[in-house]
Amino acid sequence: MRPVRPPLPITFDPANTLESNDMNVETTLHSATQIAPKDHNTEALVLSCMDFRMMDPVADFLSRKGLKGKYDMVAIAGAAIGVMNDAKPAWGELFWDHVGLARDLHGIRRVIVIDHRDCGACKAFVSSDCASDRQGELEIHTKWLTDLMAEVTRRAPDLEVELFLMDLDGTVEEITC
Ligand SMILES: [Zn+2]
Repeated sequence: MRPVRPPLPITFDPANTLESNDMNVETTLHSATQIAPKDHNTEALVLSCMDFRMMDPVADFLSRKGLKGKYDMVAIAGAAIGVMNDAKPAWGELFWDHVGLARDLHGIRRVIVIDHRDCGACKAFVSSDCASDRQGELEIHTKWLTDLMAEVTRRAPDLEVELFLMDLDGTVEEITC
């Protein structure tokens, strides 16, 4: 029989309240960095697509940004589209829980979101010809990425957000609002 795991010490509440089961106290997200031990802090949480083709390009890009070994990672099909689409609400819930954990346990200061071109989740959730026109594809991802940015800001106003659309060859476009 598998041993029963103790609950995670922290749970993320969309109402911006964190509850620590260990300490039986409530604290706001704004005090999260005080909970994380200083030597256990890191810079960012990265959201990328699960697509195997993007793993090396994403890691290379983050290394070029000086973030090698300095980020938590969540990979969800479609990245921003996976988190924000209505068809898979559990995916969004998983992501927001992880933002809370990364903030509380590792004191992250920013969320970096990397969508990519020719994404199967974009074709599945948005449009089957999502990737047929580069400008249209850019506009689709820009919409989902900026929606996600607004939601991060609503839930955790102190976190910075950076948005990118990556091509399969690792070329990156920064999405600015
Ligand atoms: Zn994808």
